[in-house]
Amino acid sequence: LMQLYFPLNFMGTLYREIRQSMIDIGEMFSIMARDPEVKDKPGASPLKVEAGELRFDDVVFAYTPERPILRGVSFTVPAGRTVAVVGPSGAGKSTLSRLIFRFYEPQSGRILIDGQDISEVQQESLRDAIGMVPQDTVLFNDTIEYNIRYGRPDALHAEVVEAARLARIDTFITSLPQGYDTQVGERGLKLSGGEKQRVAIARTILKAPRILVLDEATSALDSFTEREIQQALEKVSEGRTTLVIAHRLSTIVNADEILVFDRGTIAERGTHLQLLAKGGLYAALWNRQRQVDAARETLALDADTA
Ligand code: ATP
Repeated sequence: LMQLYFPLNFMGTLYREIRQSMIDIGEMFSIMARDPEVKDKPGASPLKVEAGELRFDDVVFAYTPERPILRGVSFTVPAGRTVAVVGPSGAGKSTLSRLIFRFYEPQSGRILIDGQDISEVQQESLRDAIGMVPQDTVLFNDTIEYNIRYGRPDALHAEVVEAARLARIDTFITSLPQGYDTQVGERGLKLSGGEKQRVAIARTILKAPRILVLDEATSALDSFTEREIQQALEKVSEGRTTLVIAHRLSTIVNADEILVFDRGTIAERGTHLQLLAKGGLYAALWNRQRQVDAARETLALDADTA
């Protein structure tokens, strides 16, 4: 058994590394072996996105039969609205995004976009319709302009600049000696986590998908960067159907609906204020996060005055 454990454990780590460093969800599927079960059905037609409603209808899912991850999950993100998903680590939050991209398929239940079952449409059209801002972005070894334009290769320079402005990364770029021609990536200028995330946001603004999946970074950012990113995320999700996989509660208070996941089911749902009033799991998560934030602030203050 131990002989199996190490390779499997390694593959788990590798999987996580690859997943977290994805430049674009399309890349993910070409680099990684997909679940061979997930194939286009013969004669599948392209997804037709209109308003962009996303619906989970009694979705049941497990990676391995003995460990159910989603036990009949139903929710709707109405067109243009924002729904946030929160819950303890391992509750199955990121699994939702893997199912939306059809990296895996539910054992039962359906995922629908504008009423079309995503298991019935061409995968490429599905992935074209959805934008993803991942937890961590790896940049191409190329210019910063190229890295943003990747969202829409035929975009004009002015459009790249506008996207960068909306993503609040433009001032940073123009402060560099070579501006938009600066080489980034492993062999170029290394950007911070927050800067990379804003490049990913600019890219998504250019792509302008109807449906967005935001997988928030778990890493602690300083509060200024966090505010900048939050504003950029609000910009990119404006008027788009958005599912936010949230790791920090402070960023989702304005969501139209918050779903609290626990052990594969939606344990609570409602707006921030409704959930606080309820005094349940969400309220407990919220209070715990506030304590952590307060402790962080105190530490930062101590460091400043030391
Ligand atoms: P976190 O907040 O820590 O990111 P999460 O709620 O997003 O957690 P998921 O990534 O959706 O959690 O994972 C849910 C469960 O499924 C976890 O227990 C995880 O170990 C398991 N899991 C994730 N990916 C796989 C996989 N490819 N094969 C088997 N199990 C997996």
